[in-house]
Amino acid sequence: MEIFSAIKNSEESLFDKQYWLGRMMEWVMKDPSFKVDLFRFVDVLPVLTTDEQVAQHIKEYLVDNHKDIPLFMGGALKAASFSLTRGLAAAAIRKNVTELAERFILGSDMKSAAKPLLKIREQGFSYTIDLLGEKALGDNECDTYAERYKEIIMTLPKIGSYREDDPPNVSIKISALAANLKEEDPLHSIENAKHRIMPLLRLARQQGVFVNFDLETWATNEIVVELFNDIIKSAEFSSWPHLGIVVQAYLKASYAHVQSLIKACEERKTPITVRLVKGAYWDYEVVRAVKLGIACPVFQHKAETDLNYELLSRVLLDHAHLLKPAFGSHNIRSLAQAIIYAKSKNLPKSSYEIQMLYGMADAERKIFLKRGHRVRLYIPIGELIPGMSYLVRRLLENTSQMGFIKMSRHDHLADQLLLKAPLADHQVTNQSDKPVFTNEPMLDFTDPRVRGQFVKALNDVASTFPVTVPIMIAGKIEQSVTEINRVSPNEKTIIVSRVKMAHIKDADRALKQSLEIFPALRARGLHERAGHLYKLADIMQEDIFHLSAIICHEVGKTWNESAADVAEAIDFCRYYAKQAEVELSEKPLQAVGGENNVLIYQGRGPTVIIAPWNFPLAIITGMSVAAYVAGNPIIIKPAEQSSLTAFNLYERMLRAGFITEACHFLPGIGEEIGAYLVGHPSVANVCFTGSKAVGQTIMQTANTVAPTQLQMKRVVCEMGGKNAIIVDDDADLDEAVLAIEKSAFLFAGQKCSAASRIIVVGDIKQLLIERIIDATKSMTIGSSVQPSSFMGPVIDAEAASRLLQAIEKLRKDSSVTMLYEGSRCDGGFFVPPTIVQVRDPSHWVMQEELFGPIIAIYAASDLDQALAVANGTNYALTGALFSRSPTNIAKAREQFQVGNLYINEKCTGALVERQPFGGFKMSGTGIKAGGPHYLLNFVDSRSISENTMRRGFAPEGP
Ligand code: NAD
Repeated sequence: MEIFSAIKNSEESLFDKQYWLGRMMEWVMKDPSFKVDLFRFVDVLPVLTTDEQVAQHIKEYLVDNHKDIPLFMGGALKAASFSLTRGLAAAAIRKNVTELAERFILGSDMKSAAKPLLKIREQGFSYTIDLLGEKALGDNECDTYAERYKEIIMTLPKIGSYREDDPPNVSIKISALAANLKEEDPLHSIENAKHRIMPLLRLARQQGVFVNFDLETWATNEIVVELFNDIIKSAEFSSWPHLGIVVQAYLKASYAHVQSLIKACEERKTPITVRLVKGAYWDYEVVRAVKLGIACPVFQHKAETDLNYELLSRVLLDHAHLLKPAFGSHNIRSLAQAIIYAKSKNLPKSSYEIQMLYGMADAERKIFLKRGHRVRLYIPIGELIPGMSYLVRRLLENTSQMGFIKMSRHDHLADQLLLKAPLADHQVTNQSDKPVFTNEPMLDFTDPRVRGQFVKALNDVASTFPVTVPIMIAGKIEQSVTEINRVSPNEKTIIVSRVKMAHIKDADRALKQSLEIFPALRARGLHERAGHLYKLADIMQEDIFHLSAIICHEVGKTWNESAADVAEAIDFCRYYAKQAEVELSEKPLQAVGGENNVLIYQGRGPTVIIAPWNFPLAIITGMSVAAYVAGNPIIIKPAEQSSLTAFNLYERMLRAGFITEACHFLPGIGEEIGAYLVGHPSVANVCFTGSKAVGQTIMQTANTVAPTQLQMKRVVCEMGGKNAIIVDDDADLDEAVLAIEKSAFLFAGQKCSAASRIIVVGDIKQLLIERIIDATKSMTIGSSVQPSSFMGPVIDAEAASRLLQAIEKLRKDSSVTMLYEGSRCDGGFFVPPTIVQVRDPSHWVMQEELFGPIIAIYAASDLDQALAVANGTNYALTGALFSRSPTNIAKAREQFQVGNLYINEKCTGALVERQPFGGFKMSGTGIKAGGPHYLLNFVDSRSISENTMRRGFAPEGP
């Protein structure tokens, strides 16, 4: 109450309506859609280099969408749209935003920050310096950050004199000092981070500078926490007191984190500083958890975080003899309860400190200082571009409904209300609101138990090699005289499986059985078959580690990619089971008295499933269960390279109760057994996913009618892609580069959805190329069994030699600039990631699907040309646009001709029901797997009309 009354008459300049900023904030809080558009504009502004670009974005974000903005802003904004006033208006707007940024960011470098820093210290405040910038994507970027931290550490001690108990202080972010931090492999990530961190720490100790480790997102939490633990326990730093770390109270794991820090301090006997904050990435964490279907690491309700903050404050103060608590918050209640608790324990004010962000809560920080507390300001320094996400976070915080500063200094809520103890209201979510289908959660590798189980599964599976993969007809093993050995792409010397080869006689037997069971299968209810799919999903879910491990060994997918493959297979089962009951059950048709009309669906007959190896479980599962649930016997022909994974599916189908006589498993050579099945007159449907060349042959064969054939064959044919990512000149390059790296190089580019063309618009070309190369260079390449690997091998010797020949050809091609060729790895079928630049969009590297880690970059003058180039291939599968121009986004939505378009997102990773998948042109027959209407491909429909009138009496009435 004392603090409140002391600040009562002071103005919070952020909301002072006399000034531009205050009036703008006022409008932002009144109009949520303006807030979104304005902050998006602020976010993009620093990368806009010309007045035209600024004017265009103002028009698109602010003028067109918000006709009613007040005059003080509207005038300036409209002026920016007219060519005469454009220059002046753009300059004024840049100035305003720069001023806004300067409110929260002290300077662009240490030179410009030195003077104001001295002033801040003269006023009595302490500080910690934060170097602006988020995640670095490549080693060069990390080196640059390391250099800048070095500069800060060297310069800070020279700015004035310091008290011994309050040395110069810098806050560091690990993600800026190590690229490719991977939650699957914290140990490797920690070692990776140490390369740059240890020299900085040594320098800091030599210079007498305090180093605080900031925490960012949950995915890197364990890495930072364990790295810090390693350091404070190490012989080298165990007696150095000038180390600190953040604890984020919104994390459910924060209590355990505090306990581990207390234990470490007990052991090392030298204190550290623990900065308790609430956490700045709440939206991100919640959205990420929902997207991946994983347990949410943060508390859902604000009050729970507040409550936890108070609990942790007390735990920290209870151990103030071991460590030094720092309370980072602007919430008076949160700070006051800590202070009062400290007082009740007779702790001196010097045993803890208060921390606040530079540019916020000006009056509050002065009061705390006046009352004898140490107040440390968290002061960002850096350029405007990397600073924008920080600025936007501050703006959001200051205008959020729940923000304390807003509630207290803008809404002027009663002090009693603001001081009320937080009450966690555990609302029970309404069960009936739950969607019927939810995607299977991804494995959460931040959990050490999950990592442990994965390693165990990899070892267990490897101990069974080589596994014999048999031919199975109606659940019974068939003999074969021929077999092929399948070696692991990670390590050529390991034979994963010995695959028995099915021949024509097996195909004939499987077809005969299928024809025999077909009427009975059709007669058995849809509901029963859907039940088999649900059961299969459950079995696969129980076996997710085992199945992922097989995939990892057999086709060389990394941990995350393997687990995602299994999750997608589970999704297909549950989604098609649900969808079958919705779409394939009997439908009443137009009702007329005296007449009963219905539409019914029935299976068509033996269905051949011909699958690729690159999603060795997901695709084959999706195709098989869709055909089966629709009432068709299925003959599964897996890809030669992934027969073991496919066999594991087949076994589980039998366990799940699939009607045995209706399911057959025929591993074999595509050109032989696959081609024979496709051409067979008894086959009703062919469901194929694979290359364009094979797909076209299949279409031709299937459409050639044999004299004994009784019905036309239906062909579902999903083929390749030559997918492009367009990067517009106003794109967020941090996001674009990360997405390009993932889209092009995860699973060594062997996804039909993978990006193989990058089309860059305008002046950002050089910067984009440099950043892509830096990120690619920093990728860890190696066996997919190793959790540190970002990119694994290609599928087999044939693929490796084909791709290496393509690279050789590119190297010799004078019309192509070789920008980067990665190094090679031994052991498996590794192909170096390769980046070229081309000038001719019709060059073969821009047209042919290579299915490997090779990307071609093309520079376009504007978006229209970029779209023309993107659309200028035979394919139309996936594509992505990175842009912050609403007009250009709208244009791409309309004109980018692909089956799956992603805006500001990578072009791979479609999820069942969320992004039904499939292309058109030569990428496929335009059917979307994992979406509505897919099942209709596998049925015939019958309309039945019954006259119910007898002697003039209609049972339903007229
Ligand atoms: P592929 O075309 O070589 O083989 C696919 C399947 O067809 C295999 O089971 C193979 O044995 C069989 N086959 C080969 N020749 C045959 C013939 N003459 N008659 C009948 N069957 C025959 O493809 P792949 O190398 O396994 O997979 C990679 C290709 O698949 C890429 O082109 C990729 O883009 C494409 N793909 C497309 C999608 C999609 O959804 N559009 C998804 C995954 C993969």
